[in-house]
Amino acid sequence: MAKEEQWLLDLRGAARGDSRAHDLLRSLTDEVGPRFSGTPGEAAAVAWALEAMKRAGLANVRTELSPTVLWERGTERVELLTPRRERLVASALGGSVPTVGGALEAQVVEASSLEELDRMERARVEGRIVYLHYVMPRLRDGTGYNTGGWLRTVGASRAAKLGAVGFLVRSIATHGMRVPHTGALHYDGAAAKIPAAALCPPDGDLLHRLLSSGQPVRMAMDLGCRPLHAGESFNVLGEVPGTDLADQIVLFGAHLDSWDVGRGAVDDGAGCAMALEVGRMIAALPKRPRRTLRIALFANEELGAAGGGAYANAHADEAGRHVAAMEADQGDGAPWALRVPEHRRDSPAAKRLAALLAPLDIVLDPGQARGGVDIGPLGGRGVPFVDLRQDATRYFDLQHSANDVLENVVKDDLDAATAAFATTVALLTNMDESFR
Ligand SMILES: [Zn+2]
Repeated sequence: MAKEEQWLLDLRGAARGDSRAHDLLRSLTDEVGPRFSGTPGEAAAVAWALEAMKRAGLANVRTELSPTVLWERGTERVELLTPRRERLVASALGGSVPTVGGALEAQVVEASSLEELDRMERARVEGRIVYLHYVMPRLRDGTGYNTGGWLRTVGASRAAKLGAVGFLVRSIATHGMRVPHTGALHYDGAAAKIPAAALCPPDGDLLHRLLSSGQPVRMAMDLGCRPLHAGESFNVLGEVPGTDLADQIVLFGAHLDSWDVGRGAVDDGAGCAMALEVGRMIAALPKRPRRTLRIALFANEELGAAGGGAYANAHADEAGRHVAAMEADQGDGAPWALRVPEHRRDSPAAKRLAALLAPLDIVLDPGQARGGVDIGPLGGRGVPFVDLRQDATRYFDLQHSANDVLENVVKDDLDAATAAFATTVALLTNMDESFR
């Protein structure tokens, strides 16, 4: 391979050793804090992002409307009644309906998977609270979330189809502390909407042991959630205009909203900070990029994924000009693998990118690049994805919980990730070929 251009090596080094991403993340989490869709925190985050993009030297800085569904958590009480009384630590799932007419009290029945739940007889489930006991494995690639996130999302409706009146799930998380993890659910229109919450891992384990012993277990759930209603959020966009290939767009995004329960440091303040810092570094290069770099901070990823959908709709006519889309939504983890569109894996561009990332301990992954929640809708419009898979070993101790704060971010990992994203984005905006 030809000797790599010096400016790319310099950029990689500067992003690794001299990144401002952690400072940006500190500013976002200290000065804005939680920024759940529809809250004053979200509005403050949009104002913060506009200012941060201008300070980063981006051009065409603007907001774009994202119609959004809004939801409020309200009070939440989950209590063990039988065989003994104890208040448990739980968090309502995003989008849950409230309990009506005071607390819901019912016997609990357990399933360990959706398949097991589906096979249960209606008589065992009717009138009861279903508890789904899934212990998420701690894995570098975070794939335990594929199963866990899905059963949290659809479990309530699957239980309701068998007549359940409430739904509990062990937090989709990898730690053993008494901190619950929230997350969105989705109700199936064909089933009754039942209240749903996540128990912190140890309290889920307690429930599992009590139920395994065969004795009847009764619980109370009292959720004061305010149901979904229509509202408005905003995507925030900024650009580094290209030169000879300016009509081609490389999109790099993260989501600006966060859950209400933490400060959104790893999910997804880290991604926002990296996107802004990558934009700043590329805007500050002596030579402008050939393609246009567009930085997007998406609204409402956590509950409804509305921001990514709004972007894809608003930019449908220029989808064909997007030559690559990347997303950072795996926290502060140092990347360990690069994924490109499968049919371009052996291309000179993929090899060049892999060689540039190898000193950061990143390997070329044999799989297909999949994008993420926010850029996902662009995939249906033919936009190729490029992924950096970040180490998720610690991520699921933090995301969607009160643990998601700056103190749990590892600056060195965040800098390694920023360097990888900066290098990848810089090459995508400047190389002769594309992954289309
Ligand atoms: Zn996220």
